[in-house]
Parts: sequence; C-alpha cells; structure tokens
Amino acid sequence: MSFIKGTDRGQVSLLPACVDDYVAHDALVRVVDVFVASLDLFELGFSRTIAAATGRPGYHPDDMLRLYIWGYLNQIRSSRHLERACVRDLEALWLLRQLAPDYRTIAAFRHDNPEAIVAASAAFIQFCREVGLISGRLVALDGTKMRAVASSKSIAGADRLARDMAHTEKEIAYYLDRLDIMDEGVAQGFDDQPNHRQAFTNAITSLNRRKDRLTRRQQVLADRDEKVLVFGEPDAKPMGYGHSPKMPSYNMQSVVDVDSGLIIHHDVANEANDSQLLHPMSMATMEVLEVDTLKILADGGYSNAQVAQCERDNVEVAAPIKRGAMSADFFRPTQFAYDELSNTIRCPAGETLKPSGKHTRNRAIRYRTSACMGCPLKSRCTPGDQRTIHRLVDQSALDRMEARIYADPSLMVTRRCTVEHPFGTIKRMSGGGRFLTRGLRAVKAEAALSILAFNILHAVNAFGSERL
Ligand code: SF4
Repeated sequence: MSFIKGTDRGQVSLLPACVDDYVAHDALVRVVDVFVASLDLFELGFSRTIAAATGRPGYHPDDMLRLYIWGYLNQIRSSRHLERACVRDLEALWLLRQLAPDYRTIAAFRHDNPEAIVAASAAFIQFCREVGLISGRLVALDGTKMRAVASSKSIAGADRLARDMAHTEKEIAYYLDRLDIMDEGVAQGFDDQPNHRQAFTNAITSLNRRKDRLTRRQQVLADRDEKVLVFGEPDAKPMGYGHSPKMPSYNMQSVVDVDSGLIIHHDVANEANDSQLLHPMSMATMEVLEVDTLKILADGGYSNAQVAQCERDNVEVAAPIKRGAMSADFFRPTQFAYDELSNTIRCPAGETLKPSGKHTRNRAIRYRTSACMGCPLKSRCTPGDQRTIHRLVDQSALDRMEARIYADPSLMVTRRCTVEHPFGTIKRMSGGGRFLTRGLRAVKAEAALSILAFNILHAVNAFGSERL
C-alpha cells in the first residue's frame, strides 16, 4: 500500500493555463461577478467611477466592490487579509483578473463609499423582486446586537469618571507627598535618591495626563448631554441581554421575506431597545416592496403603541403582547375583561373597574374599583389595598394583534424559523458578530456587505447559481 502523492512542484503546468479555468462554472464567485457587472455604480453613488484625466490610473470601484462581496462571503473582511487573498486565492485571482490592490486602497473604498455600498445591497433585493424571487406576502422582523470596535473599559458615565478622577487626584497627592518627604530628608542632610525622585516625577506626569483625559471626557459627556458614552466609538451604546455585561454594540435590524428567506430590508440602530423600530422598519419595507399594505411578524419587544401607528398605515402586525412578570399566586391581566362600549373592566369577582387616572409617558389609563377592600377574592388578586389594571390608550390595536396570534399560533414558529437563523449565519460570517469599522456610517456599510453576502448565498442555495 502507498499514500496518495501530490504533484511534483517542479512540474511545468501546475495550474491550468487559462485564468477562467481557476473556478468552476457554477461557483458562487461567478454570481458576484455578474451581479456587480449589472450595477450602475455611478447611479448608486460610488466615487471614482470615471477615470481621472491625469495621474496614476486607479482601480475601478467595481473591482473593489467585487472583492469586498467575495471577501464577506468567505469570512475575509479585513483589508489586510483581502490584500493577501488577492495574490494567493484562486477565486480572488479570477475575480480581480490578477489585480493586487494594497490594503490602504481596499480600506479606502469601504471608508469612502458607505452609502453606495448600502445602495448596492438594496439593488440585489430589487433584482430579486423584479425577477419574482420575493413575494412580500408575509415578512418577519427581528434585531440582534453586533459588537462595536471598543472594549467595555471604554464605557464611562459621569459617576465612573468622577470616581476615576478622585482616585487619580489621590494618587497624585500621594506622590507629591513622597517628593516633599524626600526634600525634607535632603534638607536635614540625608542623601538624595535621584532614581526614586525620577520615578515619582514620571508617575506624576503620567497621572496628570490621565487627569487631563478624564477632564476631556467629562467635558464631552456634558457637551453631548449623555449619561453614558463609549469613548473611541461614541456612536455605539452599551447593550446586552438580561444581567449579562453590557458591551459597546449596535442593534442590527432585519426584515426577512417568509417565502424566499431573503433579507429584504435592514438597518443598524444605536438604540439598545427595539421598541421604537417597528414603525420605521415597516414603512421602509413597504417602500422597498412598493406595496400599500404589509403583514409583519415580530416578537414581544416590538409590541407597544407603535402597533396602532402601524395599523393606521396599513401594516398588520402579529406579535405577542409583552406583559410584566406577575406572580402566579394572583389573577393575570388576561382574566380581566375590557368592555369597549362602557370603557370599563370586569374583574374575576364581577366588579367593575373604572378609569381613575392616566400615565402620560406610557399613554396608559389606570382602572380601579373601591370594591377591593371587602372582596373575598382579594388574597388571590393583589397584595396591596387595591388592584390596578393599566390599559394603553392604543390597547385595542394590541388586542387585535394578539388575537391574530391566538387564531394562528404557528405564526410565531414561522417568525422564529424565518428571521432568527439569518443572524446566526451573518454572525458566523462576520467573526462572531463583530464589526471592524468605527462610526455608524461605516458600520452600516459593513452590515450592508454582510447582508448582501447572506442574500447572495441564500439565493444561490435556493435557486441555483446558473438560474440566478
Ligand atoms: S380585589 Fe378588586 S379587582 Fe380583584 S377581584 Fe376583588 S374586587 Fe375585583
């Protein structure tokens, strides 16, 4: 028995003579090539689409866009790694026709064209829509946190800065004290200790630099009127789930077509909470699909007064109502029946709860009854003197929304199976869900490249590269 042997390195024809033979006829990279060739980069807003009359010729933006899309598809996102891939990866050699731009040129393209890259990602969806791959019959919305280029140490609020400042001043005072003691010793005839003196002086200089930095940060915090800021990446916000540590992150939102599985619209927000994003994401999706009505599935994080706003704009939302945790020992809010005609609530004891005030901020109305004090069911209803039920001003829209889920419980399974797995794929393709660039504009471009790569991959898997 022998082992499988490789080809001799001295063999003359190691690779096929023709560059086009480097990649298979149905390879993904050919889809990238054809897609970019079909785009009007000038119309999409890419810079340098027309060669300058003078100077050294530059690279055409379509080659740079090809390289980035191919890179994101192959988990190669950094400009230095892409530079290396251009000379050692057969697909990259084929795609760029053996061009080898340096990493500064590659990075400058992504830096200079964030909006155009977002437009190129949207162009792929338009293409899919025009050829009938997207139905838009039902869509699902969800968000995920993507880590920003900053560590948790760069998160600082007024309290922490004040604490650090006090600690720094205390350290400076300590070293100044040591220098005074040393001076006193010298005055009394003891030998000077120049090495120690130098070390203390260096420490004071370094602490003063830290103090200046803290003062600058306090000023920035006051100027921006923020409670907490991520220094070095001020567009990012500390985000996390539950009691997990809150890391500097962005909130990536995506709307997925249930029938095709393609991400038809996405955005990157720098607010940790999804609560204000249902209406803007729905409106943007309608614009992409060019429709007047939309059916959208979402999770409990989106169920708030925006549901009524969506209803007014012909968006039918299906999401569970988010209710606060309630002890199992007491009657649940669903056991209280609302009567629209009289605007009252009937409790399990048959008493009538009437409006007794408003929460302006939450746009909620309080309902109470004076019958609680003598109620035989009180021990199962409230630990206090009186049970209060809060009902949103727009609660009827939320109730209608919840009724859709009760009528068809499979909707929530559909939502989960549609919109959650793309995030898994995107995070796997993007280093575990980390952006490489700083600032919301640049991050949006990165997200667009990730989504475009996902959509191309998904479309090829679903419809085949030749058909696509
Ligand atoms: S405690 Fe009040 S709200 Fe609760 S069941 Fe009795 S009367 Fe109704």
